[in-house]
Amino acid sequence: MRKLVVLKFGGSSLANPNRIKNVARRVVDYKKQNFDVVTVVSALGDTTDDLISLAVQINSNPSERELDMLLSTGEQISVSLLAMAIHKLGFNAVSLTGAQVGIVTDTHHTRARIVSIDCHRINKHLKNESIVIVAGFQGVTQENEITTLGRGGSDLTALALAKALKANLCEIYTDVDGVFSADPRIVKNAVKLPFIYYEEMLEMASLGAQVMQVRSVEVAKKFNIPFHVRSSFSNNSGTFIAGSISDLNKLKLQVKEAEMMEGALIRGVTLNKNEAKITICDVPDRPGVAAKLFKHLSRVDINVDMIVQNVSHTRQTDISFTLSKNDLPKALKATKTVAKEIGAGEVLSDLEVARVSIVGVGMRSHPGVAAKMFEALAYQKINIEMISTSEISISCIIQRKFADKALRVIHSKFLNRAK
Ligand code: ASP
Ligand code: MG
Repeated sequence: MRKLVVLKFGGSSLANPNRIKNVARRVVDYKKQNFDVVTVVSALGDTTDDLISLAVQINSNPSERELDMLLSTGEQISVSLLAMAIHKLGFNAVSLTGAQVGIVTDTHHTRARIVSIDCHRINKHLKNESIVIVAGFQGVTQENEITTLGRGGSDLTALALAKALKANLCEIYTDVDGVFSADPRIVKNAVKLPFIYYEEMLEMASLGAQVMQVRSVEVAKKFNIPFHVRSSFSNNSGTFIAGSISDLNKLKLQVKEAEMMEGALIRGVTLNKNEAKITICDVPDRPGVAAKLFKHLSRVDINVDMIVQNVSHTRQTDISFTLSKNDLPKALKATKTVAKEIGAGEVLSDLEVARVSIVGVGMRSHPGVAAKMFEALAYQKINIEMISTSEISISCIIQRKFADKALRVIHSKFLNRAK
């Protein structure tokens, strides 16, 4: 039985010729172990950002179709250079764009969804002992329009290919050693997590641990595609993400059970410094008011994060919500319009907030987790402005100036090994 591996390399792993050669060696190593190898690559270094900035210098509001046309060129550079590097090592390799593979998407430019993947062409090359290199982040509509899959979309390409090709393993190579219990740049004793569940990864990704594109983790969870996030700069094992420990055992992965259980109550602490808060005061307490407000915000494409509405004793209440701070001007304008329409009071905003969160499936079955988190903040005299919870996470909005400190104290409360 042939074994197939899908490898994905991010932009920083390909940022210069030496790094591209390094990636080529890693890819070839799998081939030497008799794997069929499909490799997905992102654009070199910061190419995508550079292309976007070029576009907006020409037109501050570029057409999304043309943007996709432009951005998809980044990955096309990477695939061809990597193929050349692999040839140099004496192995067969062929580069393919999303369209050449047959990665068919819907028509939503800049955030397309994959509809289907044709495996014929890839399988044909694999049969001929060729390493196949696929441009990440891109696809093509049924009408042959080039699309892209949203920022960070190469992860999605890799996971979707792993699913379509029934790969034995999918590895996401990046510039960090894996998923950490907290951002190691802020928390010195953060640890690399050997294993986390999809849902924990999903919470951590959406709460600010910028290891992977959120949508791609959703796809992995939906279709149960276990994967391994690891560094392209070392041979260390990284973090395995799966739906259950038995799924990992099926893959014969040597993640020790004891290691996996360690810190199982709380898996990680995340920080999002990119938040802003809006409060509408004295909102009349009657049906339809919140619907009106948030419908209007969604119409102008604002993604609202946390929402808190207080109990009203006086038939009036305050509603606060958070959002990405880049969206604040647009959201403020929209909110003020609605506030007037519904007869609410003042609209306040705060750009200086951050969100600190704890994540772990273990909290489902353990009481007292929230209290422990709040205590850690209280001890440092950090005021909590908003609280929200999901089944496996608790988030607090605090002033941004306390963000790093909050991350450290919460991490040490839950995750320091000495405790
Ligand atoms: N190059 C694209 C981006 O920077 C896709 C990716 O890196 O996955 O968003
Ligand atoms: Mg990139």
